[in-house]
Amino acid sequence: MSHPLLAELATFLDAAGILTGPATEGYMIDGRRRYHGQNLAVLRPRSTEEIAAVVKACARHGVAMVPQGGNTSLCGGATPDESGHAVVISMERMNRVLSVDEGNNTITAEAGAIIADVQMAALNAKRLFPADWGAKGSARVGGALGTNAGGLNVLRYGNMRELTLGLEVVLADGRIWNGLRGLRKDNTGYDLKQLFIASEGTLGIITRATFKLFPLPTAQSTALVPVTNPQGAVDLLRGLQHELGDRITSFELISQRCWELLAQYCPELPKPFAELPQWTVLVEVSDGGADEHLLDRFAEALIALGGDDALIAQSRSDAEDFWQLREAIPEAQKRKGVSIKQDIGVPTSAFPQFLVEAQAALKSEFAEADIIAFGHLGDGNLHYNVFMQDVTKAAYAHEPRINELVYAVVQRHNGTISAEHGIGQLKRNLLPHFRSDVEMALMHDIKRALDPNNLMNPGKLLAD
Ligand SMILES: Cc1cc2nc3c(=O)[nH]c(=O)nc-3n(C[C@H](O)[C@H](O)[C@H](O)COP(=O)(O)OP(=O)(O)OC[C@H]3O[C@@H](n4cnc5c(N)ncnc54)[C@H](O)[C@@H]3O)c2cc1C
Repeated sequence: MSHPLLAELATFLDAAGILTGPATEGYMIDGRRRYHGQNLAVLRPRSTEEIAAVVKACARHGVAMVPQGGNTSLCGGATPDESGHAVVISMERMNRVLSVDEGNNTITAEAGAIIADVQMAALNAKRLFPADWGAKGSARVGGALGTNAGGLNVLRYGNMRELTLGLEVVLADGRIWNGLRGLRKDNTGYDLKQLFIASEGTLGIITRATFKLFPLPTAQSTALVPVTNPQGAVDLLRGLQHELGDRITSFELISQRCWELLAQYCPELPKPFAELPQWTVLVEVSDGGADEHLLDRFAEALIALGGDDALIAQSRSDAEDFWQLREAIPEAQKRKGVSIKQDIGVPTSAFPQFLVEAQAALKSEFAEADIIAFGHLGDGNLHYNVFMQDVTKAAYAHEPRINELVYAVVQRHNGTISAEHGIGQLKRNLLPHFRSDVEMALMHDIKRALDPNNLMNPGKLLAD
């Protein structure tokens, strides 16, 4: 431990709290293996107080800190740079769900708690914690808040920002801000927690959070509904919402290419369609009423809206099969090889036109472009991924131009270049092209006010 910081940390962190050398390797690579950082050490504190002491020591020594949760955000946000001068602060040992307040319908967890564990603790109290997505078994509370993660239930319950009532945060100077209030109404000035949500660890380290819980749905129905085109999907969404209100919990679009990829690369999975539809929507509705009642109303609404050929799950196991297919699309892509991935959002009503224009723009320059579009149409967010003929890392050479073509269409429709995964290192140079000068200046002002020495996850979200 040659660095004086490490000697100081060793006075209050236990041996398992400071990793150096080969033991840190797994923390250095981001989920897509695009970024490989170096570190001074990986620190694994066990409490808010230890984090506060770590932050104070790092601030004194001028050492940058990179908070890391499950490392699943896929844009290099939790990976240190290559200088080897930063410490990674892993939240993995602060992984407890602390309490459920049944009367207040809230749950409080440490920032290293795994999302699936928070779901399970809520379920044990017969409540729903609706944050849910493919990486729920690895993603942790602090990372999910750091990126304002969304997922499969946003349409009805909102993303992490909307689920959060209170935060505890260690600030860049080591002070602890306890904003862990479980209040649904609180008009006492600036809503400080919002600053830290989606800040990607650049303003402070979230240590605990209090979330809203919801009644467990007692009835659920799930269907795969073929639609002729994306406009048909948008019309179906609005029609179903008219018929069933906010019982529409998830509304996911799946293109024909996704079904083809699943058949080719995940042949072990069920094949629900003999003939692959051009477009399909995976819809889930949920409610507190009797199952038959909801199922009947859902089936009637689908027929009334032209979805006669919908496959409606007849059991929870059917529904799980449908979801397994949807969640296997990223895996099928991974098995095929490297694609250029985009996590874009436009107003839901603009999606049909976006898809036409983006495809035309791509095909005009890259006839070979193989477009895989799927995702959270109900939230106005799609994963829009492009395979080139070469599916090795060499395909990344086309990334800047593909981004340019697609993002120009996104911009025309007042959309966003990151609806879920955040900016990280991957998109930090693009951000100023998609947020106005005033917005960028405000973001830099906030960063300077909260982290004047730029030690909190430097080089992420905002380019230095
Ligand atoms: C298969 C798969 C499916 C996915 N599906 C979705 C989806 O549907 N919707 C969605 O929104 N995302 C999705 N994601 C992305 C990812 O799971 C989320 O962004 C997730 O919330 C990140 O959590 P994490 O713990 O892995 O964070 P990390 O990747 O470790 O960190 C993310 C960011 O948060 C910061 N951070 C970590 N901990 C803290 C802390 N305690 N305080 C402050 N900052 C912190 C990090 O520095 C980094 O900038 C998916 C990812 C995968 C691999």
